Amino acid sequence: MSEKTALITGVTGQTGSYLAELLLKKGYQVAGLKRQHASYNPRNLATCFNSPSQFTLVDGDMTDESSLRSIIEAVQPDEVYNMAAMSFVAESWNIPISTNNVNYLGFIRLLEAVRDIKPDAKIYQASSSEMFGNQAPPQHELTRMTPRSPYGVSKLGAHRIAQVYRESFGLFISCGICFNHESPRRGPEFVTRKIAIGLVSRVIWSGNPKFKLGYLDAKRDWGYAPDYARAMWMMLQRAAPDDFVIATGETHSVREYLELAHAVSGLKGTYRDHCETDESLYRPAEVYGLRGDASKANKILGWEPEVNFEQLVEIMVQSELDMPLL
Ligand code: GDP
Repeated sequence: MSEKTALITGVTGQTGSYLAELLLKKGYQVAGLKRQHASYNPRNLATCFNSPSQFTLVDGDMTDESSLRSIIEAVQPDEVYNMAAMSFVAESWNIPISTNNVNYLGFIRLLEAVRDIKPDAKIYQASSSEMFGNQAPPQHELTRMTPRSPYGVSKLGAHRIAQVYRESFGLFISCGICFNHESPRRGPEFVTRKIAIGLVSRVIWSGNPKFKLGYLDAKRDWGYAPDYARAMWMMLQRAAPDDFVIATGETHSVREYLELAHAVSGLKGTYRDHCETDESLYRPAEVYGLRGDASKANKILGWEPEVNFEQLVEIMVQSELDMPLL
């Protein structure tokens, strides 16, 4: 069993919680940073709480450097996974400053604390396919980055500062440029979970009003979050830091996801009988087509996804049918 200690910021979120479970299984001591009084779904951490001798939650805030310094001092992590973020792209137009304060400046605060207190710690930064904007697919590590949302800009800032700190100070920082990754732990505002909840609400009560969606022809490369957590851990087991695209290599439109999810739900008719589009949900600027080329991660890390698109849709809808959260 490993003797290592990891700090995960954003541990209460979807991928942070899967990562915590993975590291606990590998024998790590895991400290998870959460914001005091922040609400989260305790189900995400149910498995972690079953390992009280290995898992602790610590209160801290990416906007407060002193809290990050105290935590690094107390935890003395061998590995730091920065999963904390304001992660909902659509919301980032409404709160561009706090999005950048958490996602970009928060990461610099974390880097400064690590550089001062535990400079030999290995750091993982959760970079994002949103950094590519509308560059033609397939996108890879060297594709130009032209983000179209305040969220994408915040992630690009953090991605670039990671490279700068790596070169300037010799810190071990690896960035995973992760394409969309989903699971039943995804927040209900993201389109995959929103569709699963919306359809199942109609299964449970056919009188429920149709749910509303925005732009249906955007294409995403959707994978399964636990597969991505595994890639993150693999990156920090390397002798040298690097950046990796993590993606399935398949792309599907929101409409295709909706059609398949509708079929899995067992609802009659077509998806149009259960939802409608609402242009007020369109974004000020859309990213039209994402499809990642993860051949570098495949070759160097030996990583490949275990869950494909069809299986993912099945998991998303079936989990709502099994345990509706309405
Ligand atoms: P993102 O790729 O990180 O922004 O993940 P989302 O799940 O929020 O959105 C994926 C795509 O679905 C984007 O192109 C959205 O414009 C599109 N979309 C269409 N309707 C909706 C909706 O009602 N909610 C969300 N979140 N996205 C929608």
